[in-house]
Amino acid sequence: MTGSLRSLTVLGATGSIGASTLDLIRRNRDEWRVVALTAHSNAAELAKLAREFGAEVAVVADEVHLPALREALAGSGIEAAGGPAALIEAAARGADVTVAAIVGCAGLAPTMAAIEQGGIIALANKEALVSAGEVMMAAVARHGATLLPIDSEHNAIFQCLTGNNHAHVRWITLTASGGPFRDWSWERLSAATPAEAVRHPNWDMGAKISVDSATMFNKGLELIEAYHLFPVGLDKLRIIVHPQSVVHSMVEYRDGSTLAQLGPSDMRVPIASALAWPARMDTPCAPLDLAEIGELTFRKPDEVRFPATRLAREAAQAGGAIPAVLNAANEIAVAAFLGGQISFTRISAQVEDVLGSYAPPPPGSLSDVLEVDTEARARARVLVTST
Ligand code: NAD
Ligand code: MG
Repeated sequence: MTGSLRSLTVLGATGSIGASTLDLIRRNRDEWRVVALTAHSNAAELAKLAREFGAEVAVVADEVHLPALREALAGSGIEAAGGPAALIEAAARGADVTVAAIVGCAGLAPTMAAIEQGGIIALANKEALVSAGEVMMAAVARHGATLLPIDSEHNAIFQCLTGNNHAHVRWITLTASGGPFRDWSWERLSAATPAEAVRHPNWDMGAKISVDSATMFNKGLELIEAYHLFPVGLDKLRIIVHPQSVVHSMVEYRDGSTLAQLGPSDMRVPIASALAWPARMDTPCAPLDLAEIGELTFRKPDEVRFPATRLAREAAQAGGAIPAVLNAANEIAVAAFLGGQISFTRISAQVEDVLGSYAPPPPGSLSDVLEVDTEARARARVLVTST
């Protein structure tokens, strides 16, 4: 990396991606200046991070926690703010790099505010891109922002595409671990508990994405994410199950060459790739020891037990507002599953039901997307209570 100081904002600083990002920054403190750090409600942890990194401003999205944040930051000279408008305002201050690491469509408006400043957006928050699709990509182009994917698969594809022409791509293959239930029968799946679903075999992640990995909605959302990031056409995007999570994704070219990116199951690798881009930086991650790993295996996904990737492909095909409906319905279903209100197999069934009942016209703006999101959530909640 160059010697000049770069500015950084982390939206969702207290989460799993936020922690991995700040771990890398901590090891390179003299290269970064922190503008804004945000969290949903954990004021104590946010204040601790803001003090450690000398942030300009700290924001709790849930205003109820603003007094606690103010108290925890007293005397530090760090601004404390709360509520959704403050979150957007903090993102709109702009930074050389904004790490979008809020979970869910809740991250969409602040991510769009950062895009409008035209810097680098290191995107982990896939739900925002899935929901806003064309609206977000148009804003990226209009404001000259640079969208760098942190999601490990998309970061791998981004690296495999660098220096190559999209027109020569034959296939882009997203790898999927298959999640903790990849070998479970339908009967066993219907009795799966939240504790079992969040215990991912390879990755240590937030609760929502862990459940998404178990249902395969994570791969479904990633298919839609890839569709927007890498415009080669939906018919060139494939999914393969790869339980070891070593090959993070692949690109096959017309001459028969397949390029893949491999690495440890540690999100600091793709995060570092985005933070240092187009250069490279050191990470503390263990080197890849393929002799120790021994075997890499691959198999086709099973869309009967895991309908999520089929639903996502259909939503991407329909386009417009439909992926936002799928995402919102999934967010509500996952929360209901984690809250013990619906069974594991009801998640995809409920998403399919909402998709069948609500097909709004394509959104033309951020507020259109948020309207679709709100309505789809309301419909999904009705299904939860009537189940
Ligand atoms: P997490 O639950 O650990 O953290 C989420 C962060 O967002 C926290 O800082 C939380 O305070 C904040 N947040 C939650 N709800 C919010 C709201 N309503 N408003 C404002 N802020 C809110 O989640 P995570 O695992 O770090 O995932 C974050 C995003 O990155 C997700 O979109 C996920 O799909 C994506 N992602 C995560 C991983 C991973 O390994 N964890 C890998 C790839 C992609
Ligand atoms: Mg991923």
